[in-house]
Amino acid sequence: PLPVVAIVGRPNVGKSTLVNRIIGRREAVVEDVPGVTRDRVTYEANWRGRRFTVVDTGGWDPDATGMNLRIAEQAQIAAELADVIVFVVDTTVGATDADETVGSVLRQSGKPVILAANKVDNQQLELEAAALWSLGLGEPYPVSALHGRSSGDLLDVVLDAL
Ligand code: GDP
Ligand code: MG
Repeated sequence: PLPVVAIVGRPNVGKSTLVNRIIGRREAVVEDVPGVTRDRVTYEANWRGRRFTVVDTGGWDPDATGMNLRIAEQAQIAAELADVIVFVVDTTVGATDADETVGSVLRQSGKPVILAANKVDNQQLELEAAALWSLGLGEPYPVSALHGRSSGDLLDVVLDAL
């Protein structure tokens, strides 16, 4: 079986956009409405000749009660099935309570976690990415899933952790 990279994060941070960037196709459904990816969807990917499975996660309704619990559950499931976890945060919003919840679940998983500071569409936003050190998951890697900015660098880091 191929190694598994799980893409985790709260709704609307750009997980599916990043998955499309990684697989080089527009297959993961991207929506302006939070919470569209209903279940875990797996794709085969290849970077610099190494094949792996990438898992797009979702499956919670942000309006539902007990949202933090659902998010924690989803992060837990993703952590169990993954060899490496990419935790996506929206840099333009910063670390929210939900991000902190996911972060602590992922820290406890013992799996390698790569922190993707997404929506860094330009150089000015790189400074804001540094604020995500506060999540306690090490270096935030600035990336723009939408424009592809630094996505190759992120993939290099992910593959190094496999
Ligand atoms: P998901 O819910 O985490 O899977 O997020 P999606 O991939 O569906 O994206 C949610 C919204 O964020 C969409 O409108 C995307 O176009 C937008 N988005 C995703 N990545 C970026 C990015 O790097 N920069 C900007 N500006 N918007 C992004
Ligand atoms: Mg999605």
